[in-house]
Amino acid sequence: MVLDDLGTSLRGTLDTLRGKSRVTEEDVDKVVKEIQRSLIQADVDIALVQDLSSRIKERSLEEEPPGGTSARDHVLKIVYEEMVGLVGDSTDLPLEEQTIMLAGLQGSGKTTSAAKMAWWFSKKGLRPAVIQTDTFRPGAYDQAKQMADRAEVEYYGDPDADDPVQIAREGLEATSDADVHIVDTAGRHALEDDLIDEIEDIESVVDPDRNLLVLDAAIGQGAKDQAQQFDESIGIDGVVITKLDGTAKGGGALTAVDQTDSSIAFLGTGEEVADVERFEPDGFISRLLG
Ligand code: GDP
Repeated sequence: MVLDDLGTSLRGTLDTLRGKSRVTEEDVDKVVKEIQRSLIQADVDIALVQDLSSRIKERSLEEEPPGGTSARDHVLKIVYEEMVGLVGDSTDLPLEEQTIMLAGLQGSGKTTSAAKMAWWFSKKGLRPAVIQTDTFRPGAYDQAKQMADRAEVEYYGDPDADDPVQIAREGLEATSDADVHIVDTAGRHALEDDLIDEIEDIESVVDPDRNLLVLDAAIGQGAKDQAQQFDESIGIDGVVITKLDGTAKGGGALTAVDQTDSSIAFLGTGEEVADVERFEPDGFISRLLG
């Protein structure tokens, strides 16, 4: 089972259950406390941590461990299952023709993630194109172009245009031979009404198969409002967590996943196009609990 990489103190606490065949409330409380400490440190929302804690407690005490299972393995299995329930599965991304639109705050890593995802799809044998509709941030066109060049994927943008909706429309036409279209948008705060109107307009032209919300791993509790607003305006199908090469563990993004009833698609782990991983629950759980 995963969780070989548990933090040392959680592993230590679980190990005290090794010889036991029954768990007591006191045992479970100790385990849950350790988990709570790690998750709160990793920026996981307190309400989510509380729900998880009650489920672990309840199940550990009520469920009968299968014969021969030690108390340690019984609790560990429940912790693992509940953690998988919390972080969820990876966002479904079939390897076929599709259009993905990225939304998020300025600086969250959208432009970098667009190129990374294009690189990832190209390694899977598809033919991606990045379309840059950010007319707001000076230098967005050049930065996106450089990244797309490094990813060796097709790129469309127009540094002289000021209408993102028109760029999106022309971009889709100009790259019609690509099969995966990744549409980058200007960074915006979800509470800025005019920018929200704009992303809705882009969305109606692009008609994406998936809208992904890009979140900096350090976002913490700010994820909730962002996720809620974007979900209400365009609908969020998945989350990309960036900058996991830093110290933040990305637990705040789980709030966005919970809020939007979505899942995590990709993890960003550096500034280069190849610094991208498809989300998989086990590694992320170890990181949260580690
Ligand atoms: P945007 O405003 O949302 O398009 O954000 P950018 O893609 O321009 O990224 C903002 C900054 O974060 C840039 O300096 C990127 O190089 C950096 N960045 C993006 N993703 C990552 C990542 O996964 N790790 C690290 N270390 N830096 C990242």
